[in-house]
Amino acid sequence: MTNSTNPVTVLGLGLMGRALASAFLREGHRTTVWNRTAAKAGELVTEGATPAPSVRDAVAAGPLVVACVSDYDALRELLDPVADLLEGRVLVNLTSGTSAGARETAAWAAGHGAAYLDGAILAVPAAIGTPEAVLLHSGPREVFDQHEPVLRALGSTTYLGADHGLSSLNDVAVLGLMWSILNGFLQGAALLGAAGMSASDFAGLAKRLAPTVVDWLPAYAEQIDNGAYPAFDSTIDTHLGAMDHLVHESEALGVSAELPKFVKALADRAVAAGRGGDGYAAVIEQFRKPSEVQA
Ligand code: NAP
Repeated sequence: MTNSTNPVTVLGLGLMGRALASAFLREGHRTTVWNRTAAKAGELVTEGATPAPSVRDAVAAGPLVVACVSDYDALRELLDPVADLLEGRVLVNLTSGTSAGARETAAWAAGHGAAYLDGAILAVPAAIGTPEAVLLHSGPREVFDQHEPVLRALGSTTYLGADHGLSSLNDVAVLGLMWSILNGFLQGAALLGAAGMSASDFAGLAKRLAPTVVDWLPAYAEQIDNGAYPAFDSTIDTHLGAMDHLVHESEALGVSAELPKFVKALADRAVAAGRGGDGYAAVIEQFRKPSEVQA
């Protein structure tokens, strides 16, 4: 799989699917495209893509089929009627979902004789085709190795392991990190806004300090992996004092205190479990348990 004109089929030409097809074309791969709403193939055809008149024709066009639609239900709705064509082909599913959905789809693909890689895209469409686009893959190693030279047209590929669920699992883990950062920023911007400061003022400070927090992660990870959390920077008791300040400031300024109270509740539970003198990584024990409050 080193020939730069490898045939690849892209199913799904939404914002992401169009970016994927375009990146394959830029690398010189012979790209067949199909979308439920055919008009979305227009620009890609100008770039050199071959539009398939039906999903059946699209799948039949080559050995490698890359799918990127809204969700796994849409994927199955799309592929179930043409499952007979999958025998001997490779399906790379870059649709977002859960690890259970990925494993179920892998079993379904295996039942139809297809090799299956599940993938997750940790990038926006504009980054596809650049090294900044991170794409995670899981499934059989030999299938990944064989097709990586084509898949690398999309960005930086990372192979996670044979368990098909690993891409989706890592995807949601990273999304959780992203939302924590975004929500922390929004909470801070709301607080500062109450004092007449702009979100842009806060963005400057946040941008300087967020990388410092990220730098703590490897040492915390080592403690989590070792199951011991000696405080080398700050104890959970000390964190709790500062969390109180955040809760009180939020309440006093009429800003939502829901997120700060949740953060404090986790630390309170860690203290109740005897972890007050440990470092913050010990809060992992609270995350490892099922939720105490059901949504
Ligand atoms: P989108 O622009 O809304 O496109 C959705 C695509 O799914 C369209 O091609 C749509 O076809 C197709 N589709 C939906 N239901 C279908 C069905 N029942 N049968 C056939 N096709 C169907 O979404 P997107 O941004 O491209 O996202 C696609 C996937 O990439 C999602 O799983 C998303 O989570 C993931 N992703 C997106 C981003 C991003 O920044 N956009 C980043 C990472 C991952 P029509 O055009 O006919 O509606």
